[in-house]
Amino acid sequence: MKKQYVFLSHDVDWSFNGPTKEHILKRKDRFDTKLFDKTPLNKLYHNFSEYMEIEEKFNVKSTFFFRTMYEDGNYMDYDRDIKNLIDGGWEIGLHTDPSSVVDINKIKQEKNNLEKLTNSKISGNRVHYLSNDDQLQKKLSELDFVYDSSNRKTKDSILSEDMGYDIIDNIIEFPVTLMDAYLFTHMGISEEKIIPIIKKTLNSSRQLNSDVNVITILWHDNVLKMKGGRMYPKILEFLSSQDDVVMCNGIELVNKIKNLF
Ligand SMILES: [Zn+2]
Repeated sequence: MKKQYVFLSHDVDWSFNGPTKEHILKRKDRFDTKLFDKTPLNKLYHNFSEYMEIEEKFNVKSTFFFRTMYEDGNYMDYDRDIKNLIDGGWEIGLHTDPSSVVDINKIKQEKNNLEKLTNSKISGNRVHYLSNDDQLQKKLSELDFVYDSSNRKTKDSILSEDMGYDIIDNIIEFPVTLMDAYLFTHMGISEEKIIPIIKKTLNSSRQLNSDVNVITILWHDNVLKMKGGRMYPKILEFLSSQDDVVMCNGIELVNKIKNLF
């Protein structure tokens, strides 16, 4: 039976303290109101231990892409969270700032900063807002990255072009197949429809004529307690019920692909 690989990833878009109280309260309807009784506001957007617990249950350790430039905070504030993730076996990637993609030295600086903080080699990249640049992969390759996951054809549809992988300038590129924000905003998908959508996407992946079939899922770390975002454990439950599905992080998938050559 041909395997279907599902690359699980989370972008950490907000600084350590999360958005302001006003920002959250303005979006109160995104959360189940009961949550506000038991969860401090600054924990609503902070979900590392919850993700670790969920993923451990399904025997997978995903990739977290961290920024090094936050609008209202210092990336070093995440040192304990990052250490816990690394010690637990999760992968850390760089969530490059859109202002850096045009300049290889800026990307290099961000990579160095994150490598210093994680005390490990960073192999994977994803640009914040999936902002892109024609020469992105060339620059990443010169900086010793191994893979990228910043491409996506549309905001409002799930296409087979956004499945699988490409090799661009020596960089393995995993287009983003499914993203929480696009599903729930641009595509207006309700929670009840999410599992059928995953099922349908998996079925199209099964039709791919690729040496390695891949679906890349981006689930932002801050959405786990939100309506829509809270479906993440159900998604993993569904995927793990499929005999042909292998859930993995970016570097595990890269190693699988490299073994083919
Ligand atoms: Zn982002």
